[in-house]
Amino acid sequence: MPDRTCIVCRKKGNANIFFRMVISPTGDVVCEIRRILPGRGAHCCFDMNCITKLVSSNRLEIALKRRNSRIHSDELLQNVRMLLRRNLEGMLIASKRKGVLSIGKEAVSKKIKLSKFGRPFVSKDISTKSLVNLKRMSEEFYILPFTMNELGECLSRKPFGLLFIDDVLLVDSICLRLMQERGISNG
Ligand SMILES: [Zn+2]
Repeated sequence: MPDRTCIVCRKKGNANIFFRMVISPTGDVVCEIRRILPGRGAHCCFDMNCITKLVSSNRLEIALKRRNSRIHSDELLQNVRMLLRRNLEGMLIASKRKGVLSIGKEAVSKKIKLSKFGRPFVSKDISTKSLVNLKRMSEEFYILPFTMNELGECLSRKPFGLLFIDDVLLVDSICLRLMQERGISNG
């Protein structure tokens, strides 16, 4: 796949590190990260600086050869955040389907001992006690932008705050999206 370029900072790279924007038939700017929408698209980094400059300039109009496309910073950020959340949810569901997802203290602590490449993840509202427990078992873990309730809903089960994914590709993809999510959150 050819390299893409951020239309703001001109950084080049794999399509995975950018979100894509197209103009819908009604003239709205639509964002996506799966690159399936037809038409001329423009790419931008998951970065507050790039997004701010994108919105305050006419770079998007120039890149997409469209005038008067209306774009709002808050809306754009909200859309991109939503895309990342959905993508993360999709990967959690995929890890369940693949049979590489373990949930709960007991299963996760077993996995931490046995798995070489898997990693533990926690909900953003995990209790301090559980976190202290986890830190004793593993130095490396990642905080998901979901509450226990949201995790439960996503995987159609009771709320839970601790999980383990034993698949290096899925762990890498999730970590990339988590990094991007942090890149566009307010502080
Ligand atoms: Zn950029």
